[in-house]
Amino acid sequence: MIDVQNLVKDYGSTRAVDGISFSVQPGEVVGLLGPNGAGKSTTLKILAGVLPSGSGAVRLGGADMADDSLAARRRLGYLSESNPLYESLGVWECLELVAGLQGLSGPGLKKRLASAAERCGLLPVVSKDVGELSKGFRQRLGLALAILHDPDILILDEPTSSLDPNQRQEVRDLIAALKQKKTVLVSTHILPEAQAMCDRLLIIHRGRIVAQGTVAELGGQMSEENAFYVRLSGGSSAEMEELLKSVPSVTSVVFEGEAEAGCPGFTVKSAGDPRRDLFDLAAQKHWPLMELHRVSATLDDIFRRLTGGPS
Ligand code: ADP
Repeated sequence: MIDVQNLVKDYGSTRAVDGISFSVQPGEVVGLLGPNGAGKSTTLKILAGVLPSGSGAVRLGGADMADDSLAARRRLGYLSESNPLYESLGVWECLELVAGLQGLSGPGLKKRLASAAERCGLLPVVSKDVGELSKGFRQRLGLALAILHDPDILILDEPTSSLDPNQRQEVRDLIAALKQKKTVLVSTHILPEAQAMCDRLLIIHRGRIVAQGTVAELGGQMSEENAFYVRLSGGSSAEMEELLKSVPSVTSVVFEGEAEAGCPGFTVKSAGDPRRDLFDLAAQKHWPLMELHRVSATLDDIFRRLTGGPS
């Protein structure tokens, strides 16, 4: 497992990581989600042992990064955001080189390299040069290099960024297959990616974890914000929008189009529960109420709210 206690890191006068604590259990994919500059890469670099922390403790599979960094680092595979690769080598040579650097040798080595290449879908390009690879294959190679020594823990910094949708799906599938036996911490600033890849999320903002939980739990934390979808008939969308806005508890109204001809739909946000007022308005105007239901907060809403952005 990954265990992080009260991690702090300053770059000069900039506090990049401000007292972060969390843990990740085996078999879990946990997402570190936050906007650019939130402190994700810095946190992952410290966890990967490539950057010293200012203070705090990191334990990987029980090994303390400060006391026994070699043992801690042996347990992890790290894909950095920049994913630096040896451009002039062939893909297979690159796998061999990194295996050598990790002290892997012996009769089973070739099989191990072939297995990592196969798991990461690299077989079509193993005889190519690294410099020729597309972004998707470079990312797969980075992942293959990270899993070569069969680590228990994977730390992946933005593994799906700058990939096209098909490549993103492939990397997500690969992570899902790997998680069966591993502890995975993955960073992303892309909300749907976090939803698609992760069992649990840590939302980070200005170096602090501002919320954590499953997507469903984070939705629960937002339940004090009331959003409803209402669909009415018998009036113009402009008049409906105007009158919906005049309902006392309503704070915003967004026209969502007409899913059914002549029945405009709106998302209505309010300070309290506006359903009685909405019903009264519909009755008063003789607008049949075609639909009225609560809308759960999206991760996007949760994120903007928790990180103090406009909602
Ligand atoms: P993220 O990965 O979430 O985009 P980073 O960890 O890269 O965030 O950055 C966190 C903060 O630390 C930002 O304010 C960033 O400008 C600053 N920072 C990151 N790396 C350095 C560095 N090498 N020197 C100085 N400041 C840095």
